[in-house]
Amino acid sequence: MTENKVEWSIDDAERTYGVSSWGGGYFSIGENGNVKVSPDPKNPNVRIDFKSVIDEISQEGIQFPVVVRFHDILRSQVIGINEAFNQVIADAGYQGQYNGVYPIKVNQMREVVEEIVDAGAPYNYGLEAGSKSELLAVLALNTNLDSLTILNGYKDEEFIRLSLLGRKLGRKVVVVIEKYSELLMLVKVSKELNIEPIIGLRSKMTALGRGKWQGSSGDRAKFGLTVPEIINSARFLEQEGMAHTLKLLHFHIGSQLPDIRAIKDAVNEGARIYSELHKMGFALEYVDVGGGLGIDYDGSKSTNDSSRNYSLAEYVADVVYGMKEVCDLEGVPHPNLVTESGRAITAHHSCVITEIVGEIKADGARLDTTEVENEHVLLKNMRELYLSLDGARNLQEIYNDASEWKEQAVSAFKLRVISLEELGKIETIYWQILRWVQVQYRDVEFVPEGLQHLDFSLSSQYLCNFSIFQSAADTWAIDQLLPVVPLTGMDKAPDINCSLVDITCDSDGKIDQFIVDRNLQNIMPIRQLEKNEKAHLGLFLTGAYQDVMGDMHNLFGRLNEVHIFSFDDDPEDFYIEEVVKGSSVENVLSIMQYHPSAMAMDVKRQIDKQVANGQIPPREGVKWTDFYENCLEGYTYLKTS
Ligand SMILES: *Cc1c(COP(=O)(O)O)cnc(C)c1O
Repeated sequence: MTENKVEWSIDDAERTYGVSSWGGGYFSIGENGNVKVSPDPKNPNVRIDFKSVIDEISQEGIQFPVVVRFHDILRSQVIGINEAFNQVIADAGYQGQYNGVYPIKVNQMREVVEEIVDAGAPYNYGLEAGSKSELLAVLALNTNLDSLTILNGYKDEEFIRLSLLGRKLGRKVVVVIEKYSELLMLVKVSKELNIEPIIGLRSKMTALGRGKWQGSSGDRAKFGLTVPEIINSARFLEQEGMAHTLKLLHFHIGSQLPDIRAIKDAVNEGARIYSELHKMGFALEYVDVGGGLGIDYDGSKSTNDSSRNYSLAEYVADVVYGMKEVCDLEGVPHPNLVTESGRAITAHHSCVITEIVGEIKADGARLDTTEVENEHVLLKNMRELYLSLDGARNLQEIYNDASEWKEQAVSAFKLRVISLEELGKIETIYWQILRWVQVQYRDVEFVPEGLQHLDFSLSSQYLCNFSIFQSAADTWAIDQLLPVVPLTGMDKAPDINCSLVDITCDSDGKIDQFIVDRNLQNIMPIRQLEKNEKAHLGLFLTGAYQDVMGDMHNLFGRLNEVHIFSFDDDPEDFYIEEVVKGSSVENVLSIMQYHPSAMAMDVKRQIDKQVANGQIPPREGVKWTDFYENCLEGYTYLKTS
């Protein structure tokens, strides 16, 4: 029987893991202790249990780790931002319209982009591309002539010709000039082809974004035009008889803006530039405020890098009212408003389900430490310390003594003074002492500084079947915080702490940042797993960037994916609409220039040789050959069932 002594409720679980704080209204902990997803906030009755999702995935024979996409969440986010703008525009008596676009670099998966285009169709929601490949995708995917197609990023002549092909197709393709030379090229090619472009100018802003992407604005920003360049661009177009093609002002001060003040600043600055250009005779129709709308990854609603101190409604109000105020003062028309939110549209819609496949414990193995004859004094001392433990002694002192003797023991071992067996016994007792010290202060308020790392040293590392480099690239690259929680069993009190490690051979392949009880910690509480118990963890908010930026470190490839829709009539039911198979070993090897079929032949030849030599019986040879080929066709992650 596993009865917990500690009082524990779902409220405690919620406080510990903060699921509702970062869940964006989509994720919560159910009464049964399992994470639930409500993909449509307007329909809160629909609550799908992650346990059923896990069961369904297993029944379908799909191997973990798995990316789960909730298409309903994507739709809901697209509808949410459009409705929010339309509402505030109506309330404010704003004269322009909202013409948002989704920047596909944030998640280019075809199914994701198609769902966004479909959900955004009633609002003429468009797409943004930042490279030639993305432009090719965007030209094919969104055929709505009333939506915008915005092109950012550095461009060559081919890119510009493609944009003009879009114009020929009747599409509102806006070429945003990042660099003055692009304008010269665009004017030349469009005159040559006699196709009228729609031109946007990207402004290098002085308003500084904060957080991890603040390099996107300021004098050293990589993209955009300075004030003199903007003025020269407009005048150049005028000289060329093309002033009327200049229709959009663009800026983007960085992704994941934690502080609403930066957004207000940028909108104000952008509105001033727009107004002045208007008064100079350039009647621009759109102001594009870029991306930057943040996600509250840590649930703190603060200006932490992984959070944001504003809601969607506040963001929208600041953009609309900020623009209106300046335009009214300047007496210029209200421009149509464009945003390029990517992170905010996609982050919530996907998560990664991984299985815990093992535990790495500092004190996992113990030796028999019963006293024997002729023991070394270091071992004797350590044992005496252990046998004399009592709460009256200073814990720090006990810890210091134990640590010092352990260090001495390691030196003594290297100097051939004690044996391997003696060192093993000393380590065994050492960890017993540390465990004892940890228990002494379990319930005290104040833990002396010198002992604060004990919980970390004594915590387990749970080995999870996935690769950080494939599924959570930003965790590794820029210390991005992503919520990780157990998907089931949160109705029982956690009894140990752990950090997480992945299955790559890289020591960087670990997660040791968690939000626990609203604080950033390097370990998270979890229930001690029974032997052979299977537990699944969810890595959440992976839909923006993480889904598509991963690499194949150690040749772990793309994950199996399931796409999930909910049923309206049965609030607990859902169906897997599509399964996208992850990379096979063959796939990843081919990318690295291997020839899997030739490899299979090579290995078969070696097996045949051993058969001929009598080292392998013929029947077994066939089996080994098949086995090798099956592994080539298999999934790159650990096979756990
Ligand atoms: C990356 C990028 C975006 C998307 O930003 P989010 O913060 O993800 O919304 C928008 N516009 C431009 C120009 C970008 O480079």
